[in-house]
Amino acid sequence: MTVGVLALQGDFEAHTAALARLGVPARPVRTADEILASAGLVLPGGESTAMWKLMEGTGIADAIVEVARRGDPVFATCAGVIVAARRIEGPARAGLGILDATAIRNAYGRQLDSAVVTLTDLDREAFGDEPLEAVFIRAPKLAGLGPGVEVLARRDGDPVLVRQGNVVAATFHPELGADPRILRLAFSSALAAALAARAA
Ligand code: GLN
Repeated sequence: MTVGVLALQGDFEAHTAALARLGVPARPVRTADEILASAGLVLPGGESTAMWKLMEGTGIADAIVEVARRGDPVFATCAGVIVAARRIEGPARAGLGILDATAIRNAYGRQLDSAVVTLTDLDREAFGDEPLEAVFIRAPKLAGLGPGVEVLARRDGDPVLVRQGNVVAATFHPELGADPRILRLAFSSALAAALAARAA
């Protein structure tokens, strides 16, 4: 059983490599069938408008929703968070709705749109006391979080890492840093639980 990394566009190779470093078996996926056959899913960063175009008429959107609905771990970053969100602004459209939130695209001003930020406003239970180095690249902001969405990290008060059950979403790029804590959080325990449920 492997984790599928959606490989239509964007930085999917960095995700596959980061998961391999953690010992989580992962492979790039490009079709609805490959997505449905995965034991978990990564929605990588890239350009969400290009991703929507490449998904059109392929059944991929429904397959992603199904993987999330059946409880397998899903980890979305940046453009992947935009695709996963219920609503999108800039321009306005609906997302897949597997994350009950609004994603506001390119929401940091021009000066700040790409930055490495030390995040200290963290969920202690998930991360302990050690700050997280986070790489932001033309990141969205999250707003209008639904009641089932927990905030695990904030940047200047804005939620940048959230969890809704089996769906973990980072507006930044943990796969580009050396810190494995977020990928571990997204996959280790959830994947073990999903595999155990399937074996039962
Ligand atoms: N700005 C991109 C978008 O709106 C996301 C950037 C990223 O994934 N690094 O889709």
